[in-house]
Amino acid sequence: MGRKPWTDRLTVEDCLALDVSILKGRFKLDRPVRGTYRWPRANDADPAIDYRVVHVSANGRALGLRYFIGTSRTPVEYTVQTTTTPCNFGRLRYWFVCPLVRNGIPCLKRAKKLYLAPGARYFGCRTCYDLTYRSAQQHDKHVDALLRLPAEELRKVLLQDATNLGTLTDRCKATVVRRFLKRG
Ligand SMILES: [Zn+2]
Repeated sequence: MGRKPWTDRLTVEDCLALDVSILKGRFKLDRPVRGTYRWPRANDADPAIDYRVVHVSANGRALGLRYFIGTSRTPVEYTVQTTTTPCNFGRLRYWFVCPLVRNGIPCLKRAKKLYLAPGARYFGCRTCYDLTYRSAQQHDKHVDALLRLPAEELRKVLLQDATNLGTLTDRCKATVVRRFLKRG
């Protein structure tokens, strides 16, 4: 198995994200709430999200989502459960409950954001779509490049970086050293 090559994985930036903050204040109303959520930098291919609160329960609410994918005239419609955890001053923090099912098992993971991956029909959490962050990929790429150097060369780079207060981040250096030692 081993680590996945960095180029294979989708990043959160490749996806449309639905942030739980769109629910802020909405559940205080005692009647059904509807609205349309458009992406900040929407282009024609991005679906607009019509949402509505359809159900109120003791420990959370459900968000009904309705949107069109691409040029399809059939809407994608389903319900995403939400849940709350207490935070400071008696306030509540809202979470989506991931609606995806993997290998027949519902994910049910709590998430602040749900993502619609390219080509997917349903929003899901970062784990379900195996998403990484672009900054993490850049970090991995940098580490991989350093580890491809001959040992002596790598030692020089690290020494030089340390004496010149170089540009490598501490996290990058720590990863390089750890993986270099592991390699033996
Ligand atoms: Zn999930």
